[in-house]
Amino acid sequence: MSSSIRERIRSIQDSLPSSVKLIAVSKKVSVAAMREAYAAGIRDFGESRIQEAVGKIEELQDLSGINWHFIGHLQSNKAKKALTYFQWLHSVDSLKLAQRLNLLAQDLGTSPFICLQVKILPDPDKSGWTIPQLLDDLVELNLCKSLQIQGLMTIPPLGLDSSEVGQVFNRTRELAEEIDKRNLSDIKIKQLSMGMSGDYQLAIQSGATMIRLGTILFGKRDL
Ligand SMILES: *Cc1c(COP(=O)(O)O)cnc(C)c1O
Repeated sequence: MSSSIRERIRSIQDSLPSSVKLIAVSKKVSVAAMREAYAAGIRDFGESRIQEAVGKIEELQDLSGINWHFIGHLQSNKAKKALTYFQWLHSVDSLKLAQRLNLLAQDLGTSPFICLQVKILPDPDKSGWTIPQLLDDLVELNLCKSLQIQGLMTIPPLGLDSSEVGQVFNRTRELAEEIDKRNLSDIKIKQLSMGMSGDYQLAIQSGATMIRLGTILFGKRDL
């Protein structure tokens, strides 16, 4: 890709509906590149490894107004660090993890924004709730009063064609609607965190409110 990070961010931002928040996924990206993204207007960064993220968050403390989004698999021994450094956790993938985060958040006096990660199709490579498991766990999740449960997050399995990917995103939106109909006091699903570089346009068509873009902004990196 020959254009600059700034140009790529500008052109994608310009194409997005105002209802969609762009999260710049900066895993494996240098702080210099992240400063460039900030200069182009990015205020939401997504990271998937706690250790890497903490170093960068500390290095970028001079930049005001950043929201940090954790999007990777969260091991329970890193939960406290995640709560200390991140305002948003998109990848809460089990009741056990949610309950642990709730207790830690209570101790720390924070109330993080949470997305519940769902697996719409079976996928051995990913964690997350299946639809029936999540519906079963809602009452317990609603008792996690220190968590601000705001949305659902999903990643379609690899290898689907675009109509299948669209179905995964649509099903996620329908699930959000089903959850809202249950009228739980503390769970209102306002956010759909779905869409990456290869499928964000499909996600937006299905109602995504947060898209998580890495490669298309920063170029390819070694993973
Ligand atoms: C890496 C990653 C992204 C960004 O993926 P790209 O294809 O580089 O845009 C989005 N979401 C999650 C959970 C990721 O791990």
